[in-house]
Amino acid sequence: MTYVVIGGGIVGACAAYYLSQKGEKEVILIDQAFEGKATSAGAGIICPWISRVDDPDWFAIASKGALYYPELIASLEADGNTETGYGFTGALATSDNWEELKELKKKVEKHKESYAAVGDIKLLEAPKAQDYFPGLDENLHALYISGSARLDGRLLAKALVKGFKQNGGKVIEEKVSLIKDSDHRVIIETSEGNIQADQVIVAAGAWTGDLLKPVGVAINQVAQRGQIVHLTVDEDTSNWPVVLPQDSSHYMVSFNDNRIAFGATRETGSGFDYRVTPGGVQEVLHEGLRVAPGLSDATFKEVRVGFRPMSPDKNPLLGKVSGFENLIIATGLGASGLTMGPYVGSLAARLALDEAIDLDLTPYDPLR
Ligand code: FAD
Repeated sequence: MTYVVIGGGIVGACAAYYLSQKGEKEVILIDQAFEGKATSAGAGIICPWISRVDDPDWFAIASKGALYYPELIASLEADGNTETGYGFTGALATSDNWEELKELKKKVEKHKESYAAVGDIKLLEAPKAQDYFPGLDENLHALYISGSARLDGRLLAKALVKGFKQNGGKVIEEKVSLIKDSDHRVIIETSEGNIQADQVIVAAGAWTGDLLKPVGVAINQVAQRGQIVHLTVDEDTSNWPVVLPQDSSHYMVSFNDNRIAFGATRETGSGFDYRVTPGGVQEVLHEGLRVAPGLSDATFKEVRVGFRPMSPDKNPLLGKVSGFENLIIATGLGASGLTMGPYVGSLAARLALDEAIDLDLTPYDPLR
């Protein structure tokens, strides 16, 4: 059997890794790594417990996504791939409105009845939250949730590809296209000839629609640009929690290398316009420093730009494509792709292998 995965972002890398673990004959991962690859720009908040998305189908797959991480990280570490970028740091939902946080606490406690992984939940009266995240506005209260994590998507994708290669997987680094044969099968065109695969997983992120056009498949997804600013400080930020201000869609995520990300713009309608704009940077810095004025003297490191693959209802586009013998789509993860990505990638691999799946995939029909 030959399995091909197109796209080496978090979804495709995880699908390929999963397939390679099964000892299948041949697994090929194809990735050109275009400018704006979302996994390389994503902030990395893994905290579905306080999301504002009010959709049980979204929550079902996002929570399974968060729960899948410990298993995946353990598997990579067992093979010596310890630089995964995953950190179990907890999260702080911040607000100057104590009553709002009390209400949020009730919501999170409700989730905890079904998901023990939510962990400890406690209210922190201002300025106590500063003990967890130095630099925060001293007037902000917070709700601390221990069962939340952050992820460096670049490191995880790298670790997955390394593990994939250790398991015998082959990587092709080029832009490929698809054609269709008379037996309703997709064929991959590469510079070294065509590849006929038993199953093809298309996990090409925001570019999935372009890739599928020549075989007559149309999906409902757009590219949404996100600009995100990275700062460094002279402190060990490795255990700082994710900060999620309740009055904004912006946030802060800290990493091991003294780095803090202020995220991010959500520029629907941007298309594939790979640019850093003054308006985008101003928005992100303004929102970040409003919540954490103590970071105004941090060092400005860089701005990253990524294209989120957005479906209209924020749910993934995942499943086999009817009318084709060998085509599986796995994209559309939008602003939650680092949360759901590994789990969705594993589901795509399981579809390819005809393994049983413990989730009803109907709401995620890729052609809906
Ligand atoms: P990508 O990572 O975009 O990977 C697709 C790959 O396919 C690319 O490398 C591309 O070059 C390749 N490809 C496409 N076409 C071809 C072709 N024809 N041939 C070869 N290769 C091809 N999610 C969270 O859960 N939490 C967050 O805090 C978070 N923050 C974010 C902040 C920003 C600024 C952005 C941009 C995103 C954020 N996300 C977050 C979302 C998350 O990053 C994405 O949903 C996720 O990374 C998408 O992964 P993917 O594998 O589908 O796509």
